[in-house]
Amino acid sequence: MSNKPGLKVIIDPRRCIANAKCSTVAPGIYVLDEETGVAVLEDFEGATVEQIFAGARACPTQAIQIEQYGHRVFPQILTPMWGDSRPVDGHDDNDGPSSKM
Ligand code: SF4
Repeated sequence: MSNKPGLKVIIDPRRCIANAKCSTVAPGIYVLDEETGVAVLEDFEGATVEQIFAGARACPTQAIQIEQYGHRVFPQILTPMWGDSRPVDGHDDNDGPSSKM
């Protein structure tokens, strides 16, 4: 029946920064909830696998996670959220919190 066997989309509202990247690349599939401002998967049945993954890839905060048969397939590496333990990458080029933008 489904063209997306075993696929499950999880949107983490704590990661969503409501910048609408997902709803831009997959309009009508991902939409921002009017009340909460957080992205929701509006049309799973009508979505293609490509649209589901495009939205997830477009998300800068990895708020959209995709599982298949109970295993996460995207993103492969889920970086910790800010405020959680920070990834230690050994590249400490920053002198501090001053803005470089
Ligand atoms: S792209 Fe990610 S952060 Fe932006 S609205 Fe969609 S789920 Fe939220």
